[in-house]
This record gives sequence, structure tokens and C-alpha cells, in this order.
Amino acid sequence: VRFLDLNAHPGTTMLAPNFRLDEVAQTWKGRYAVVQPGAIGRLQAVRNQVGALVVNSGYRSPGYNSGVGGATWSRHMYGDGFDLDPSSASLTALQSACQANGAGYTQVYATHVHCDWRSDTVSVAFYGTPFWGGPAFVLADSLPTVDAELVWDGEVWTAPAFGWDEGEPLREWVALDADDYAIAIGTGETFSPPAGTATVEVWVGREITRTAEQPAP
Ligand SMILES: [Zn+2]
Repeated sequence: VRFLDLNAHPGTTMLAPNFRLDEVAQTWKGRYAVVQPGAIGRLQAVRNQVGALVVNSGYRSPGYNSGVGGATWSRHMYGDGFDLDPSSASLTALQSACQANGAGYTQVYATHVHCDWRSDTVSVAFYGTPFWGGPAFVLADSLPTVDAELVWDGEVWTAPAFGWDEGEPLREWVALDADDYAIAIGTGETFSPPAGTATVEVWVGREITRTAEQPAP
């Protein structure tokens, strides 16, 4: 793996038409950064599709990553993972754009989307030949194990979630009546079902669906 010494390169260095070096790597997250040109190209392609993006998190050194509770094999350490906050598109539109542009993995959080390109082959000229001869850095067991449950407190539903390593996942709610018609939808950490609700469904991080019967008032 080749590292960039961030102290030797101005943060204003343009990596792509709309991305500067200091948007994807900062010295306080690791002086020596991994910047993958292919992944930056993917990022630009996503940006071309959905408009301006704020990169909440790009490269993280292993030390920084463990300090912020990141996943053991977080793609942020490999330079192909980005937490993105769209300025004008929705989170779901951004997720779709990442997927349409070859993302190996995406996860939707309450305020951002994690997109990474873990399945892309990296430049052999730059990074050297992977020592096991296959695509670099593809780790089948690196997918996070996430879970969620539905909890009714007598007034509102919540969906405590586990295993999400970089914040609260997005919750999308649906209330169904006794005939299974959707009578209300919502987004957010809590959900107040309207009268007539028989079943509540929540989609957590666009990853996990949980369903529960609405208890009687
Ligand atoms: Zn991330």
C-alpha cells in the first residue's frame, strides 16, 4: 500500500473536478493517507449524478478509526469508503447513485450515506500486486452485522439498532390498517401511529425490516 504524506501536499490539491485532497483526507485523521484514484473517480461520477456532496468522512487511519468506533475492517482505512451528505438530493437518491456507479457496499444513516468501492480492483501500478493474486482488499467477512428491534413505549415506536458503526441508521416507518393498507408513513427516530393502525413496519438503514402488531391503546 502506498501512502500520501499529507504534510507534503497542499490540501487544495484537486483530485477530481469537484474534490480537493482536504475533503477526503485530513492530517488529524492520519498524516499518512490512502487515496485511491479509482475511488475518487467513482466519487466524482456520483457527484455528477446527484450534485454537490459533503464528504463527512473519507480516509481514516487505523488508529483514528478505532478511536471513533469504526468497523474493524472499515473501508475508510482503505481509501475507498466515504460518508456522504448530499446538498440537494435525498439520501435514497444518493444511495442509488452510488450503486449505479459500482459501489461495493452502501449503508443509509440518518444524516448520511456510506458508500464504498470495496469490490473495485485497485491500480497495480500504484499499489503493487496483491500478494494473494486476487482483487485487493475484498474481505468476505467484512460486512457489518447489524440488527434492530421494534419497541412500543405506550405512545411512540422506536427502533433501537445495533452494529451500525458510524451513527444512527435511517428509519422509515409505515402504519398499516387491518386490511394491510398503508395509512401513514414517516421518517425519523420515533413514530406515532394514527388511530386504526393494526401493524407497524420499520425499514432500518434500508437494510433490515421489522414488523410488529400495534398494541391496543
Ligand atoms: Zn462510512
